[in-house]
Parts: sequence; C-alpha cells; structure tokens
Amino acid sequence: MKRSPAKRQNPLLSEWVGKLELPSFEAIKPDHFRTAFDRALADHRAEIDAIAANPAPPDFDNTVGALERSGRALERVAAVFFVLAGADTSDEIEAIERDISPLLARHNNALYLNRALYSRIAELYAGCEALSLDAEQARVLERYHTRFVRSGAALERPAQDRLAAVNERLASLGTQFGQNVLADEKSFTMVLEEGDLVGLPEFARAAARAAADERGHPGKYAITLARSSIETFLQFSSRRDLREKAFQAWIARGENGGTTDNRALIAEMVSLRAERAKLLGFANFADYRLDDQMAKTPQAARKLLDEVWSRALTKATVERDALQAMIAEEGGNFALAPHDWRYYTEKLRKARYDLDEAEIKPYFQLDKMIEAAFETAGRLFGLSFKPIDAALYHSDARAWGVTDAQGRHVALFIGDYFARPSKHSGAWMTSLRDQEKLTGNIRPIVLNICNFSKPAAGEPALLSFDDARTLFHEFGHALHGMLSDVTYPLIAGTAVPSDFVELPSQLYEHWLEVPEVLQKHAFHASTGEPMPKALLDRLLATRTFNQGFATIEYTACAMVDLDLHSLPDANALDVSAFERKDLERIAMPPEIVMRHRLPHFQHLFSGGGYAAGYYSYMWSEVLDADAFAAFEETGNAFDPATAKRLRDYIYSAGNRRDSADAYKAFRGRLPTVDALLKKRGLADASTSAR
Ligand SMILES: [Zn+2]
Repeated sequence: MKRSPAKRQNPLLSEWVGKLELPSFEAIKPDHFRTAFDRALADHRAEIDAIAANPAPPDFDNTVGALERSGRALERVAAVFFVLAGADTSDEIEAIERDISPLLARHNNALYLNRALYSRIAELYAGCEALSLDAEQARVLERYHTRFVRSGAALERPAQDRLAAVNERLASLGTQFGQNVLADEKSFTMVLEEGDLVGLPEFARAAARAAADERGHPGKYAITLARSSIETFLQFSSRRDLREKAFQAWIARGENGGTTDNRALIAEMVSLRAERAKLLGFANFADYRLDDQMAKTPQAARKLLDEVWSRALTKATVERDALQAMIAEEGGNFALAPHDWRYYTEKLRKARYDLDEAEIKPYFQLDKMIEAAFETAGRLFGLSFKPIDAALYHSDARAWGVTDAQGRHVALFIGDYFARPSKHSGAWMTSLRDQEKLTGNIRPIVLNICNFSKPAAGEPALLSFDDARTLFHEFGHALHGMLSDVTYPLIAGTAVPSDFVELPSQLYEHWLEVPEVLQKHAFHASTGEPMPKALLDRLLATRTFNQGFATIEYTACAMVDLDLHSLPDANALDVSAFERKDLERIAMPPEIVMRHRLPHFQHLFSGGGYAAGYYSYMWSEVLDADAFAAFEETGNAFDPATAKRLRDYIYSAGNRRDSADAYKAFRGRLPTVDALLKKRGLADASTSAR
C-alpha cells in the first residue's frame, strides 16, 4: 500500500520503538491527532468488517482471537490522546476531544451493534462446549457475548439505530461535562495577601505562594479549587469569611449558570441512560448497570449503604456536637456551617490527640512516600523499581522500570504527581499499554496521575496523610495493571467490574498504616529525623476520628447516584431540586455537603464509568477490610503465603474469573461487613464519640 506523506510524518501512527517503547511525545503535536484518529479508525473498521464477513465458519481464533488482535493502532492513538486530555490538556486538545468523542462512540456502535459479528459470537457461545476451549478462552468468549448483548447487538434495527444515536450523544455530553468542571475550576483563584493567611502553617503558605507564582501573581498567595489547595485552606484558615467564599465556589462548580453550567447536561444524560436501559429490557439504568456487577442488583448495593448510613449518622451527630461545643468554648455565637467543619475538626484533633496536620505533614515527603509504596510492593510481590530517564509529555512526570524477583521486566511505571492548570482534578490510574500475551509477551505501561500541591523551587514536596493515602490507593490500581498475567487483552489488569476494581487500590491503603512502613519512610523534611514513635502512635490512634463525617460525605453521593439512575424517566428533571429532595429523604445533616455534588460529579458524568456505580467504593471496602484481615489473622502484614494468594487470584488475575469466585479463591469464603464497620469506627457507633 502506498503511504501518504501525512502518515509517514505523523508520529502517532508509528510503532513505539526505542528501549522504553514509549510514544515519541516530543514529536507529537495536537494537530497530529485528528489525522491519526481518522486513519486508525478506518484501519480498525476494515479489520472488523473482514472478521464479520469471513466466509469460513466461525471458530474461536478467526472471531474472538481476531477481534482481540484488531484495533491496535487505534488503541495507541487513543491512549496517548486521553493521557494528555486528562493530565496536560489545552484549548486545542479540548476541541479535538469534543470532535473525537462522538466519533469514538460511533465506532464502538459499529462494532457492538454489528449483527453479522454478533451472530458469529452467538454461534460460538451456543456451541461453547464442543470448542474445547481453555478456561481463559471460555471466559473471554462469555465476556464478549455479554458485552454484545448488553450493547444491543441482539435487538432489531430501529431500536439499534436509536441506541447508536443515544450513545453518541452521551459521549459528547460527557466530554462537555468534564470540560465545564475544569473551566469553573480554572476561573476561580482566590488571591490573598500575607495578612489574609491567619492560621495557615508554613507548608500551606508555601503551596499558596507557588500557586500564585504559577498564575502570574508573584509575591502573593493563591487558593485554588484543587482539592489539596482548598481542603488545606478550609482546615487551617481562621478567616471564616474567606473559608466561606472559597467553599461556596468549590461546591458551586458546574452550577454557576452560563455556558459551563452542567445541570441541563445531567438531565439529558440521565434521561438518555434511562432510555438505553429500557431499550435493552431493564426498568431503569441502575438495574441495567448493576446486572453485570458483583452486586447484581441496586437492592444489594442499597442494603449495604443503608446499613452503613444509619450508623454513620449517629457518629456524625456526636462529631457535630463536639465541634459546636468547641465553638461555644471559644465564645463563638454561631451554628457550625459546612465551611467550618474541617477547621474545627482540625482544632479538635489537636486538642484531643495533641496532633495537628502541620506537625504531621513535614514527615510525609512525596519522594519518601513513593519509596514506601514501592518497598511495600517489593515485600509483598518481589518487585523492584528503578528510576529511568524518559522523555515524557510533561517535565513533572517521572518514570521507573519495574522488575520482578528474577530480574525480569514487569512494567514501565509513570508517576505524574503535581497539580497544574492543564490537569483535570482528582487522582487516577491509567495506562498507555496494557498487558497481554496474545501477540507476544507485552508488558504494560501504567500511569498514576495526582494533584498534590507543587512546592516552590528547591523545597521538598509534602503530603497530608490523606494525600499519602491517595498515593497508595492509586498505586494499588497501578499494581493491578502492572502485575496482570493473562493472555487476552479484553480481561487484562483493571478490566473487572467497577465494584471489584477498588479492591486492589483500597486494600493497598492499609499498608500505609502498618507502623513499620511509616517508621521506615516518614522523615522530617528539615531535620531528617524519623517520626517519633509517640507521634506515630497518636497519628494511628486517629484512624476512626471524623469517620462519621467522611462516611456521610461519601455515602450520600452513592445513595443520590443510585436514586438518580433509578428514575424510569428524567425528562425535564430539575437537578438541583432532585439533589435537595433526595438529601432531605435520607436526612443529610445540614453541616455536611456531598463529597461531589451532582453538577461536578465527574465519576458519574465525565465519561460515566461510575454512573449508578459510586457505591462501588463502599462495596469494595467490604472486600478490602475483610481481605486485610486475612493478613492480620496471620500476625504478619506481609505474610508470604497470603501475599501469594492475593497476587494469584486478585492482582495478576484480571477478569479471568467471576469477582465473587476470585475473592473466594483468595479468602476461602465471601466477605462479611464486620471488618468495614470496625475500620470506620462504626461497629459501636451508638456509644463511642470517636
Ligand atoms: Zn480508585
């Protein structure tokens, strides 16, 4: 085939060569994407058409195997694009994203609504027993069959056409939603003078100074809506007026009127999702969504949330009363408001445990916490990490080569830890390439993207204890991708149900709280002294402190999500009113605001990975609390036999088994909720104030 000059020069369309097999980021320019996408989409379409039109009767290899080998150029282009769109976007990238998201949805429709292709899959699935497949192949065939059916491949024509249109529209709306949130975040910066910083410890002042510098206000201080900036401010600033101002901007993201208001988008998305569920034979979107999750039904998810909710309300009430008492003691004559909660909690923590965040924070140096996460992976799974000089997409991103106990290459790991205006908020794991063995021994390239405050030049990056937990969380996801050991890409790494995917990440957080890990890695940034034992003990004693608040803040989101996506129809939905009424129904305490209000709830609407699925974090927490108890029961947080089972059945297993079966293989039984209630201090919530 003759190659056009455009293709020869487009770095996105060449294989990733060089020692690290990375994309040539320095050569990639935004205007390469559109031509690369067009070309890669056309190539994949041709491959799909050839599989569907194959005159040979279907067999596993010429249908499932061929599908698994197809679309590689598209995967590469999309992987690079979405890493940039999330972590280092620009007006140009955003414009391409708006163009490309409906095209990708259309492309997916053409694949999963392809009747000729579906009939080959259906024929194989019906005659599965005669095919003498191994266990993994049988699982991959079953997964493809389920995916085609759940996408509507078995429906008749008019319904299929409508589904296709719905999917495309949803993709566009999801892109717009995320961009609107980012725009609202970028448009708010609270620029402060030295005199406005009352209460802020040195690390917070340094971060605010760096943020102001970056935004063109040298010599001043800036508070932004990045979680690590605003939450620190809310925790320490004794200026109630400024706390309120920043908090109001934070919770109003996506609800400010004008072109970035997300409420109409939400109403349309919920309505389209309900319609899609009905076309596929379900009463509502939540029923449809959970049918292929570990929970199976919204009732099962609600049962867990309800059980936790009532206990959390009791605990949060006790917490609120303690904060209100503190206000009274100080001579304050006002009722605790949402923008006061973090501030007085910080004071109470100090009073009760002689512990404040400013005292802890110098001990949590980013580089040391990265080391701690790496060393834990070494002790559990025999992995080693070596820094590598690699040309990446941004100078803040760093790379490490990962090897196993035998010195074999396991993965390339990229960590991109600092907040910047071009990065979407939150923290996530993603990949440039996933593990597989179908086309050779392909090892993954995995990324962790976070939004920690960047220090001023020459100063060490410091984390809060929560930030350190986020780092361990995302690194747990990264290990799920890096340790993957399957043959077929469809089921590699994190390609598991979303109520199971938080198990490897949340479980990993437990090792941050193992005292010997912090003893070894928590060193004071200026003095170099290890964290004193007494301070460490006090820190770990606060584990269940403020957990009523944290549980309410999260669980309310999970309940509102399920209720919203259980609507049979959402035409003309008033999103603000729905949220308000639903919170009234569950008796949300007025002093606490949802962790993510609907107008900026990116888990649900920016892509939709967690739509009717935010309960997943709690569902997975039942699993992670119970799974860590398996280590505790041996008396060794690094017990080798338990670690081996964990690796075999969870971290390396991808979606090779049904989630419940995978868990049983690891633990010998299904989990109970007891370990979760104990972990959150909710087991005896009615009597304990802490
Ligand atoms: Zn996660």
